[in-house]
This record gives sequence, structure tokens and C-alpha cells, in this order.
Amino acid sequence: GAMGLSDLNQKIRVCVRKRPLNRKELERNEIDVAPKTGLRSIVINEPKVKVDLTRYTEQHNFTFDEVFDLDVTNEEVYQRTALPLVNYIFGGGKATCFAYGQTGSGKTFTMLDARHGLYVLAARDIFAMLGQPRYSHLSAWIGFYELYQGHLYDLLNDRKRLFAREDGKQNVVISGLKEYPINDVNNLMQVFEYGSSVRSTGSTGANADSSRSHAVLQVLLKPKKNRKQIVGKLSFIDLAGSERGADRGESDQKTRMEGAEINKSLLALKECIRALDQAKTHTPFRQSKLTQVLKDSFVGNSRTCMIATVSPNGSNSEHTLNTLRYADRVK
Ligand code: ADP
Ligand code: MG
Repeated sequence: GAMGLSDLNQKIRVCVRKRPLNRKELERNEIDVAPKTGLRSIVINEPKVKVDLTRYTEQHNFTFDEVFDLDVTNEEVYQRTALPLVNYIFGGGKATCFAYGQTGSGKTFTMLDARHGLYVLAARDIFAMLGQPRYSHLSAWIGFYELYQGHLYDLLNDRKRLFAREDGKQNVVISGLKEYPINDVNNLMQVFEYGSSVRSTGSTGANADSSRSHAVLQVLLKPKKNRKQIVGKLSFIDLAGSERGADRGESDQKTRMEGAEINKSLLALKECIRALDQAKTHTPFRQSKLTQVLKDSFVGNSRTCMIATVSPNGSNSEHTLNTLRYADRVK
């Protein structure tokens, strides 16, 4: 794999992960637009990684901090993406790990798979660290919410509508967000599973299709003696599908408006991450609810890792190209 090439402690890291062809794609005899071997392969070109995406006769080259090929496990992805963020929050920082890509490309599998997602692997290491005497004064908490159509919903509180505000010290406070103290990985998985079931079913029938909402799972480190203070914060974000309009099945007024909101927030996210890297004085956080809510994860001591997930099959090559272009612009 693409191991050991780039600096794990950069402020912003942009990685690409390709999933394997699935059974349906294989049955349709679809081709892998970036196969592992041969001329069109994803090649490692030190010190960076290059993706050659060939569709028909076109070739596109991109350079990212890491490229994870189809056989790379979540554990290996974790070691090169979220693990440095875990270490970082124990030093008092805020960190965010995003999954960006079209629906079906592996965002949830990577970030929020109930049993093997990066959030679980991070929790394992967070609890190992909390077991050390030097961190015994800290405890872990989680919050889990969804951003849909510019509104916030608490997934650990039956999709209660929430409102975000700023506290004057550049902290974003989501009023009323339920935070649960977590004792171990199993405990975290249980609470997560409850939130996930709320995300996919809801009680009102008005819940969002998960591909049309952004899900944010936060792990907070707080002093045992002061539950109001946040020492470190790590957010795992499973973004809404990046495909556009008709490809997201937007056939009526309502879904088209949702789509416009998704496009706006993903565009604003890109602009904000870019502005951070260039240390610009003005960062356009206000352009979308997503970036407003994430603002405090970006300002001050922060680290960001984006994992752009791509599908391998030829019929999705247009989406794959769009995803790679987006990720390329974030760097
Ligand atoms: P998304 O959240 O982007 O819509 P999913 O994470 O739900 O996509 O992935 C779509 C399907 O592909 C799921 O069945 C998932 O298990 C499978 N999948 C995704 N990534 C991988 C991978 N790296 N290896 C094996 N299967 C994967
Ligand atoms: Mg998903």
C-alpha cells in the first residue's frame, strides 16, 4: 500500500480510498477504471501518490497525501488518517475526519461502519490512552447529530431539532445536544447503534435518506471534574453524497431544494478548508450551516483529514473524476 510516504502531522491531509468492484458491478462486467496492475494502475510516485484514472482514452493525474487501494483495510486506513488525530486531541486540539464521495463509494463503510469504522478504531485507542496515568483525569463523551436541509437534529435524542450559536470565544455551542459519557468501546458502539437506528428510521417518517444528510459523530475529552470544559474534540463526518441533481434522484421541488443545500454546503466546506491551508484572514464559514457548525473545529489548534472515497467502476467514472477534482482543490 501507500505507506510511509507523507507527513502524518500536516494540518490538512487529503487521502483517496477506492473500494473494490461489488458483485453487481462484476455481474455487469464493469471495468475498474484504476486497476491495481497494468498501465492504468494507481501508482505510488514518491514522495506523493498519483492516481491515474483512465476512462476511454482520457488520463487524469492527481497527487494526494495517500491513496488507499481496494485491498487496504480499515485498520490500515485508520493508521494513516485518524490515528494522528487521536494523538492530536490528547494534546488539547480539535480534529476532524471527513468522508467525501458519491453515494455508494464507501463513506459510511470507512467512517461509521457499526463495527469496523474509523470511529471504533479511534475509540479503541482513545480508551487505551485514557487508561494511562497521565490522562486519568480525563473522560470521553460522545455526541451524534445530523445536518439535513440546513437543520440540525440530535440522533441521540430522537431527532430533536437543535440550534447552534457561538459563545464569543469562537466556540460553537449546539444548545441542548445530548452528550453521553462513554466508558469503553462496547459502550460507545451501543450508543452509536442507537443513534444510527434513529438516523435511518426516525419516528416521524420525515427522516432524511442517509445519502442526503451529513452525519457528525463527536468524541469529546473532558476533565472528570469539569464536564463543561472540552479539552479535545475529534469529529467523524459522513458527508451527504457528492453526486449532483438527477444522479441523487432529484425529481421534484423538495429534493431539488435539498440538493441545492447539499451542493452549497460541500462547496463551502471546500472553500473553508482551502482558506485554512492558505492562512487567509477571512474564512467563509457563514456560507453554509455545515461550515458554521464546524467552525470551531477549524479555528485555532486544528487538524483536518479528508478521505475522498471513489467507486472503481467505469459507469461511475464521471463521479469519480468529480470527487478527485474536489479533493484536489482542497489540498
Ligand atoms: P456510502 O456511505 O458512500 O454511500 P457505503 O459505505 O454504504 O457507501 O458503501 C457502499 C457498499 O460498498 C456497502 O455495501 C459497503 O459495505 C461496500 N464497501 C464500501 N467500501 C468498501 C471497501 N473498502 N471494501 C469492501 N466493501 C466496501
Ligand atoms: Mg452512507
